[in-house]
Amino acid sequence: MIEILEPSQLPRAREVGALVAEILQSLKSRSAVGVNLLDIDRWAESMIKEAGALSCYVDYAPSFGRGPFGHYICTSVNDAVLHGLPFDYAIADGDLVSLDLAVSLGGVVADSAISFVVGDTQPAESLALITATERALAAGIAVAGPGVRIGDISHAIGTTLAEAGYTVNTEFGGHGVGSTMHQDPHISNTGRPGRGYKLRPGLLLALEPWIMADTDKLVTDADGWTLRSATGSRTAHSEHTIAVTSDGVEIMTLPEV
Ligand code: MG
Ligand code: MG
Repeated sequence: MIEILEPSQLPRAREVGALVAEILQSLKSRSAVGVNLLDIDRWAESMIKEAGALSCYVDYAPSFGRGPFGHYICTSVNDAVLHGLPFDYAIADGDLVSLDLAVSLGGVVADSAISFVVGDTQPAESLALITATERALAAGIAVAGPGVRIGDISHAIGTTLAEAGYTVNTEFGGHGVGSTMHQDPHISNTGRPGRGYKLRPGLLLALEPWIMADTDKLVTDADGWTLRSATGSRTAHSEHTIAVTSDGVEIMTLPEV
């Protein structure tokens, strides 16, 4: 199903988007060497509850995961790239951390993910991965707008990743957002321009390029949720929720500077 927001719902989308951005930036600033992934999860829980928002994750039980997720944020470290289930792990110097958060407020969902390296050791390969996903996300956002097709966004993301030297996995990608987290249309991270659903004002989309350094193959962790690169190589993921407007797009989950 594809939901189109009423103009009156846009302020709510802005509000939940700002909340998700604020929580992610707060968690990033606190993600120091020695911080446990379970601490990050608890901080996310308290900030979500304090804002009167609802977690999209805690009861989430899709076909691709094992039972209810049971946590408030995805914490994917190093070779983990998507759906990282928080566990008892203390962040080490040089770890590449991806945080993915979706919450609902006032009946509207926002979904965003950030990747960053923690500590004094900043491996060039990790920084290149992060930059590539951020550039691909920016390219997808730059092309989006009313009348544009989903394939145009997929193409912009995919060519940016390919030009940076990465291969794209098509099992998971972006998606529509609205009253629930995962809606149609699916937005592959590679595709042909001019194909697919034509964007309309009021549509909320989550664009989310993610890559693995030397493979496009995923393996599922023993926890039944966390997806890792099949080779153990490092990975990165960047995501924003955007709203299609009458003359372009507005990024809902942009952090304040
Ligand atoms: Mg997400
Ligand atoms: Mg998403």
